[in-house]
Amino acid sequence: MVYRIDKKIVIAGAGIGGVTLAAQLASLGIECDIYEQQKLLSEAGFGLNIQPTAVSALYRLGLSEQLNSVGIQTRAHRYVDHLGTLLFEEARGIEAGFDTPQISISRAKLLNLIFSMAKDKQAFHFGSAFSGDFFNKADWADKLIVGADGIHSAVRRALFPDTTELNAGGIMLWRGMTIMPRLLDGRTMIIANDENGVRLVAYPMSKSHDLCVESLVNWVILVPMSYETLPETAINHFQATNFLLDLLKEWHFHWLDLQTLITMSKTIMRTAMVDKQPLEKWSHGQCVLLGDAAHPMFPVGANGATQSILDAETLAYALYDYPDFESAIVAYEYVRIPAVSKIVMANRKMNERDLMLQNLAPQERGQEIAITTTNYETETIKEMFGLTPYKNLGLL
Ligand SMILES: Cc1cc2nc3c(=O)[nH]c(=O)nc-3n(C[C@H](O)[C@H](O)[C@H](O)COP(=O)(O)OP(=O)(O)OC[C@H]3O[C@@H](n4cnc5c(N)ncnc54)[C@H](O)[C@@H]3O)c2cc1C
Repeated sequence: MVYRIDKKIVIAGAGIGGVTLAAQLASLGIECDIYEQQKLLSEAGFGLNIQPTAVSALYRLGLSEQLNSVGIQTRAHRYVDHLGTLLFEEARGIEAGFDTPQISISRAKLLNLIFSMAKDKQAFHFGSAFSGDFFNKADWADKLIVGADGIHSAVRRALFPDTTELNAGGIMLWRGMTIMPRLLDGRTMIIANDENGVRLVAYPMSKSHDLCVESLVNWVILVPMSYETLPETAINHFQATNFLLDLLKEWHFHWLDLQTLITMSKTIMRTAMVDKQPLEKWSHGQCVLLGDAAHPMFPVGANGATQSILDAETLAYALYDYPDFESAIVAYEYVRIPAVSKIVMANRKMNERDLMLQNLAPQERGQEIAITTTNYETETIKEMFGLTPYKNLGLL
């Protein structure tokens, strides 16, 4: 196939989605410019998960060895109560029958790995915030603009000003990361609930720590808004740890010291859990959205980074395969919008389920988790298969 698009592609945002698109385009011999508001590639962030379909996409980029030497191949999600009693365990990645693993990894390390596949081949402009004014630049008239500028996307604001409202999930997310003795087998994600609707998600995310028989544990505590007693303004580390320790004072796991987990995290960050109502279109003219700019979602399905990587792969191949931007965008939207919109809605449902668990008798919770987790998988799994599926749909 000969690459026929001879006009330049401009990407706003060098986050996971934007950098993956730049790397995918580089692998196909297509040039692009990337504008990132930060002065350097972000070192920020805690851990995230990449589901097997997106791991396959990154393997196709040539990152298999690097990913496996940096991240953890997650074996299972283990659901427990606040005393660590097993409610349900679900195999993940290769153990669940996929050809590739689910990988838990530091966001900064993942971003760096993907960046390494693009940095020498594409033009990165750091310290350049994209704004509505960019659309008025005369010499940009024939360019494709890709808004990969995250949840508060300026590109989305310019394209669809009425769709920027955040939908609050009624939950605060408290994130940290702590070096601990190896957590269980070093490859298990813990998802714990108590009777007040407080949840803890914790998982190892660093291979180098695992090799030293310890775990760099990424943790997130999900707190219903009604339990939030701290002011919305800046709070210090001491206030944050005290608040979280008090919240978990009735919790006890004999295999994970929660006090150490919270107090020994160098940083603790608090954000509200939000998403946005799915859009019917992600594009207008020669401008298209990707990743969180198009579809921010609740993190409960561990799918945010995965979907931005799959968006990037699909868009890159569409741009390679089609003769003009318009047809490429049609193919990209045709595949990705219905798939990702379903996941946004499934994540909302899963969040409601998690909050409802507290109303069930302890012996019923495991069964409920088994049912809804299986439903989530069947509702979303076929949506997670990536590589240029428009080819199979007869669109090309
Ligand atoms: C600093 C940071 C830390 C994060 N930490 C975590 C985490 O610990 N765990 C987790 O699960 N998810 C985290 N996320 C979110 C996660 O990366 C995304 O949900 C997911 O990977 C989708 O990626 P994305 O590329 O669509 O958006 P993002 O990865 O959010 O990237 C968006 C990029 O666009 C840039 N940008 C924004 N506005 C402009 C503008 N006007 N002009 C130019 N550039 C712009 C941002 O600086 C950022 O680099 C974090 C995001 C950021 C930005």
